Amino acid sequence: MSRNADLVARYGSPLYVYDLDRVTAARDALLSSLPENFKLFFSFKANPHPEIARALRGDGERGCLAEISSTGELTAALEAGFHGSQILYTGPGKTYEELRTAIRAGVASFSVESPTDLRHVGEVATEHGVEVDCLLRVNSATSSAATSIRMTGTPSQFGIDSETLPELMPELSAVPGTRLAGAHLFSLSNAKDEESLVGEFRHTISVAAGIQRETGLPIRLLDIGGGFAAPYLSPGERPAYPNLRAELEVILDEHFPGWREGVPEIACESGRHLVGDSGELLCTVVNVKESRGRKFVILDAGINTLGGMSGLGRLLPVSVRLDDDALPEGADPGELEVATLAGPLCTPGDLLGKNVRLPVLKAGDVVSIPNAGAYGMTASLLMFLGRPAPAEVITRGGEVVSASRVEFVRKYS
Ligand SMILES: *Cc1c(COP(=O)(O)O)cnc(C)c1O
Repeated sequence: MSRNADLVARYGSPLYVYDLDRVTAARDALLSSLPENFKLFFSFKANPHPEIARALRGDGERGCLAEISSTGELTAALEAGFHGSQILYTGPGKTYEELRTAIRAGVASFSVESPTDLRHVGEVATEHGVEVDCLLRVNSATSSAATSIRMTGTPSQFGIDSETLPELMPELSAVPGTRLAGAHLFSLSNAKDEESLVGEFRHTISVAAGIQRETGLPIRLLDIGGGFAAPYLSPGERPAYPNLRAELEVILDEHFPGWREGVPEIACESGRHLVGDSGELLCTVVNVKESRGRKFVILDAGINTLGGMSGLGRLLPVSVRLDDDALPEGADPGELEVATLAGPLCTPGDLLGKNVRLPVLKAGDVVSIPNAGAYGMTASLLMFLGRPAPAEVITRGGEVVSASRVEFVRKYS
């Protein structure tokens, strides 16, 4: 039996398999592409599995901090061994209840997205007799040349419009329970290449320096966001950033001359790049049928398992790999046919790929969807149509070290 068929036989199908060796390899590669004293936040949104987060945190070695934005992610971060002081809480809609839970757990840094968000954080901090650090998330009035030159930024639920900061600063500086500690800018995801990544950071860092100059915002920590890329649901390698470190050093020397001494401290964030290539989704062909001359391959995994994001046009088409040793006797592993890849749900929206090139498949075949470690299970419509969540297996050194399954339970009050 192939390794994948064996895993499915033991843990069920569909099944996510994450390799912790790849997680730590991605972390170490990214840390070494950044200046030595940079902090790196892992964005739990990409994959909140506590074992993955624990591997990224590292024990004693140089590791990641946690960037979270819900009570569920807080629970995962604490389970992964993060201390409250290692957590940055972000998000445009933090509720009082969430803030209370976070502050009670010792979270002491928040990225705030509006003056009212800052006041809410302050109210809850005051309620608990503490003062917390707040980074102002800034929605810059200009975008970088790498994307397009716009003299006014776009309206957004994220961040405070940079042009309003000078006027707001007296009010923002005087919110009881809070201490303004820096700026947070996040304007790019999944940069297409190293050059656009560097261009975006150059823009972000100069915007932050301008804000400090023009508003007097104290910047002890500057979080310059991310944009580190990763392949998603198709074959490909995690990109390397050989020039990033030197480029960032030059840019920071120009705008924040004290940064090498930690004035300010600089941080960036990553989700997909750290975990994307660590995971694959194994699933099983349930049925193959033809309809009016078109072939449909129906899997036991659909938008309930992978790709709730497909509605956003971010998913299609996925690529599917079949184990060589699962191929029928004498079949050519390179033989491909065009088919539509459908999930099991009773909605025409449950498509993973339309007219994509696939190996020749039959019911019972176990297939693998690569690079599914980020924005996989928890970015999906998990409860839609009531199938159980897929199992998740964690491996290290080729051995399974944990297997689990998320369950949904209705509790009556
Ligand atoms: C989503 C998000 C990230 C992670 O984005 P990736 O593209 O997965 O690296 C980082 N920071 C913030 C504020 C985010 O909302």
